[in-house]
Amino acid sequence: MCTTTPPGTPGEGHRRFAEAAAFHGHVCPGLALGYRAAETALERLRSGRAEDEELVTIAETDACGVDAIQVLTGCTVGKGNLFFKDHGKHAFTFINRQTGKAVRIAGHPSFNTDSLDPALAPLRARVMQGRVPDEEWAEFRKRTDRVVEAILDLPAEQLFTIQAVDVDIPERARIFRSVPCARCGELTAESRLRVEDGELVCYACSTEYSRRC
Ligand SMILES: [Zn+2]
Ligand SMILES: [Zn+2]
Repeated sequence: MCTTTPPGTPGEGHRRFAEAAAFHGHVCPGLALGYRAAETALERLRSGRAEDEELVTIAETDACGVDAIQVLTGCTVGKGNLFFKDHGKHAFTFINRQTGKAVRIAGHPSFNTDSLDPALAPLRARVMQGRVPDEEWAEFRKRTDRVVEAILDLPAEQLFTIQAVDVDIPERARIFRSVPCARCGELTAESRLRVEDGELVCYACSTEYSRRC
């Protein structure tokens, strides 16, 4: 979730940023950070965009940055080579299936977007609350674009911690047979059915049972 400015083309030399912005719907610092993370990963792993599944991304956030990553890396939910862990961290692990190399790129603890322009956060809060005068909206866009340009131009090492990691390469996406749920009748992938009272039931119809300790 973030506030918005329409797609633009800040940052010379990052020509695909406009493509990411068009996909995401607006220009924001989170998108720029995701863009830089993907760009850095592709350089380190010496990989192009994933036409099929040779590249895999594990995202630890579902915030704006993931959209830039999908555009740049070609890792998408639909292809099954983008995995989401709900850890609330701006951290991404990129894996090259062909070489087995992997890199984890996480927000640098000493980098703070707000420090690039301390006036932006309070302005953003006002914009998010609702109607602001046109001049204030223009000021918000101008400041956001400047912060985005700064993110596009800073060395990756200032933005992120970048570590080569050893990870288990996730299995390639499989196609499962679909079976009707015994309760709602909707076709459901075999791998996502539960047995309840001896019947095959989809997650939505099943009763949650957990005794975590
Ligand atoms: Zn955004
Ligand atoms: Zn069901």
